[in-house]
Amino acid sequence: MAAEDGKDWKPATKLVRGGTMRSEFGETSEAIYLTSGYAYDSAEQAARRMSGEEEGYVYSRYANPTVRMLENRLAMLEGAEAARVTASGMGAISTALIAPVGQGDRVVAASALFGSCRVICQTILPRYGVETEFVQGSDLDAWKKALSRPANYVLIESPSNPLLEAVDIAAVAELAHKAGAKLIVDNVFATPILQRPLELGADISVYSATKHMDGQGRVLAGAILGPTDWMEEFVDPWLRHTGPAASPFNAWVVLKGLETLDLRVRQASKNAARLADAIAGHENVAAVRYPGRSDHPHYAVHAKQMEEGGTLIAFSVKGGRPEAFRVLNALKLVDISNNLGDTKSLACHPASTTHRALNEEERASMGLDESWIRISVGLEDAGDLEADLLAALSAMNG
Ligand SMILES: *Cc1c(COP(=O)(O)O)cnc(C)c1O
Repeated sequence: MAAEDGKDWKPATKLVRGGTMRSEFGETSEAIYLTSGYAYDSAEQAARRMSGEEEGYVYSRYANPTVRMLENRLAMLEGAEAARVTASGMGAISTALIAPVGQGDRVVAASALFGSCRVICQTILPRYGVETEFVQGSDLDAWKKALSRPANYVLIESPSNPLLEAVDIAAVAELAHKAGAKLIVDNVFATPILQRPLELGADISVYSATKHMDGQGRVLAGAILGPTDWMEEFVDPWLRHTGPAASPFNAWVVLKGLETLDLRVRQASKNAARLADAIAGHENVAAVRYPGRSDHPHYAVHAKQMEEGGTLIAFSVKGGRPEAFRVLNALKLVDISNNLGDTKSLACHPASTTHRALNEEERASMGLDESWIRISVGLEDAGDLEADLLAALSAMNG
């Protein structure tokens, strides 16, 4: 398939066909090139490949055909100039954040971020002389203020973890660009099916492919999507010389996962919308946060940039940690797990797991107390899920 083929395909077609490179054997399913090295026809060819004079693979820390197929499929899906795949989501996000900055640079980030992203901004970057500032993501005035000074990078996540708050991607992109910064969006929760940051004005989108892209809880992987010149200047040297390369096998698993991504995400989102409505009226539920419900405080922003509500729900129970734990322990079908984006529905208590590293004050500033439960909704029958959750909520009384 030539690189220009398929540009006009709809996303569902790109997910199945994009980036496929067939070998001489004509295999229908993408091949797994489980190789670390490559052999050359001659010493001269080896010299040309290594010097970059001749195109071709030299070592799988640099590039690999199976990983390349995944990169091309992802770039095509979101209309990015280029994509790079890494061993994990954090491999991708840390590369996108750390590779291009240097001493004296400034990063502005939303305060509600995936835990490890927050650690990079709060602890790691300042060690290298990079100043970071956190902003309440939904507060446009706070963004205006923070970006009234020059900045180099802005990092946001929308919907955010775990309360599914919205950051207005187009508005923050405009402010970031005025400040001279590039906007990076961690688009894991929305997926490229329901929200496409680059179309909204972001410069770079980053993914944990571990989540919905694999979608079946098997492998870790990550992806960076963005402009070719930026990728070649900053990302490629970093990936080549620090080594967060994805395993070709894992890349293959994600390639096959992408083939059903559209179907899976839309069905899980439908299940989540039904579940959110079902639990919202329960006597033991204090609040439900679902981007697709009009009672979400940021519904208008979500509705403008996200096609559907997505696969995650947060809800708070009347009470605190003991009551939330009782509900989790009473679940029979939904597993207790901090993972997400799986075909299996998974629930967790963020305050004691994914967000345990934050102090009470930081959690309070996010509105996250001990009463919140997050559910990643999967592909089980929606009626079975609803029955399980309602029974667990009622167990709070007993
Ligand atoms: C899981 C996740 C990550 C990190 O991805 P890994 O594949 O676990 O390294 C980053 N951001 C968000 C929003 C995530 O959910």
